[in-house]
Amino acid sequence: MSDRTHGSIRLLPDKCTSCMICARECPAWCIHIDSHPEAATDLPAGARQRTVNVLDRFEIDWSLCMYCGICIDECPFDALEWAGPHVPNERELSTLRHDELRQDELRHDELRHAELGHEALPNDKLGRQ
Ligand code: SF4
Ligand code: SF4
Repeated sequence: MSDRTHGSIRLLPDKCTSCMICARECPAWCIHIDSHPEAATDLPAGARQRTVNVLDRFEIDWSLCMYCGICIDECPFDALEWAGPHVPNERELSTLRHDELRQDELRHDELRHAELGHEALPNDKLGRQ
């Protein structure tokens, strides 16, 4: 499959509220989200205590994704966007499940590495096969 047909979707974790709308609207049911509640810390003085959902896992199963873009369109917080082709061809369908939080960490590592003028990190350092 060429790179042109193998685009991907990027999660912007800082914008994601773990609302689950994308997972519910995805026609292929290929988005898997785990989160846990934590007490909100940014409340004004005197406000009632409330909790926020903290994202633990945002996984897309690329073997099922149809690249329809519904998840991007439906996210009310603009936390998903089209990204360049980074989903590698895999021999096993089971390895086509990518945790987007982990992918985001890897992208930051690569950017930091590039900013420092180093050569590209080898795949094993990036947790890729
Ligand atoms: S692009 Fe479509 S199939 Fe793929 S994760 Fe988003 S909603 Fe699901
Ligand atoms: S719809 Fe947007 S904010 Fe809600 S879980 Fe999906 S990516 Fe996160």
